[in-house]
Amino acid sequence: MTPTTARDSGFAAALRSQVRGDVREHEPLSRWSTYRIGGPATVLFPSTAEDVAAALRRCSVVGVPWFALGLGSNLLFPDAGLDALVIRIGKGLDQLTERNGEWVLGAGLPAPLAAKRTAAAGWGGIHKMVGVPGSVGGGIVMNAGCHGAEWRDVVKSVHTVDAQGHDHLVAAAQAGFTYRRSDLGHVVVLSTTVTLQQEDAARLEEETESLYRWRKEGTPFNQPCCGSVFKNPVLARDHDPAGPRTSGQFIEATGLKGLRAGGVKVSSMHANYFVNTGDGTAANVLDLMKTVRSRVAEQWGVTLEPEVKLIGSDGGVTTMDERG
Ligand SMILES: Cc1cc2nc3c(=O)[nH]c(=O)nc-3n(C[C@H](O)[C@H](O)[C@H](O)COP(=O)(O)OP(=O)(O)OC[C@H]3O[C@@H](n4cnc5c(N)ncnc54)[C@H](O)[C@@H]3O)c2cc1C
Repeated sequence: MTPTTARDSGFAAALRSQVRGDVREHEPLSRWSTYRIGGPATVLFPSTAEDVAAALRRCSVVGVPWFALGLGSNLLFPDAGLDALVIRIGKGLDQLTERNGEWVLGAGLPAPLAAKRTAAAGWGGIHKMVGVPGSVGGGIVMNAGCHGAEWRDVVKSVHTVDAQGHDHLVAAAQAGFTYRRSDLGHVVVLSTTVTLQQEDAARLEEETESLYRWRKEGTPFNQPCCGSVFKNPVLARDHDPAGPRTSGQFIEATGLKGLRAGGVKVSSMHANYFVNTGDGTAANVLDLMKTVRSRVAEQWGVTLEPEVKLIGSDGGVTTMDERG
């Protein structure tokens, strides 16, 4: 008997009968990533936590891989799409509630919105996330951050569902937060409880607005891209202090701003951002990443490692070398 795959219409039909949210077949993932890149997949838009658990149980029973998607702002989907169920966490799982300084944030809430709404209510701690265009869930998984603030600074606990559909309340100390990652395992994040501090709302709003302006002026924020393509390298002790230090500085100092591969180019605004100029593909992004990595290594002896998650056809994360 041939194994069930996420592309089977029977799989989608069975799932549809078990959830309240929408199940779309052949849905272009380009619609759901900030790169505007990615082929088709079967996508569930869960409207409740029960939908998520039911989908995970279904996948576990029939052996179909799955992928949890937030706002798609830190990943590159393959041009051929995914042969995995994509569970897109958004509306329905985007609550925001407060009790005695503890805020429960739904994973589907956009982080900039969470930042603005808590700041406007006079609570500081996540207001600096206004410039990170991902979801709360993606922010937790990536331990995203900017301007010196990270999710791990405020997280008290994380509510997850595992691959068998079981709920877990993970204390922050058990979430394995390190720089731009967590160790929550293959789970779906449903929400997080964060502890914020009461501050002057007008001052917070002013700071939030000025950080947002700064972001828009320094990065191609409103163009299709995935933020930083490469992590900042760990430099040798004898690295010239007057030389480049960040990935963007290395790429710029190698003269690669504006370099293109098909429809994707190194941004002339910020060299560690690659922008899709309209008809870019995942193959173009990977070509450009490889060229940039080898030119920087030749000139500076520094190897850049991807920050963007390169998603493989089964929803797993792949390396640049595995992607041909
Ligand atoms: C213009 C721009 C600027 C950026 N600036 C910054 C920055 O300053 N700092 C920074 O840290 N990042 C930055 N990023 C990257 C990105 O916004 C963050 O990593 C963000 O937190 C990713 O959230 P997301 O919802 O888009 O996650 P996605 O891209 O959808 O997913 C990223 C990873 O998280 C997992 N995931 C997402 N949601 C869930 C969930 N609910 N449950 C389980 N797993 C989940 C996915 O499976 C995937 O592995 C930037 C991106 C862009 C486009």
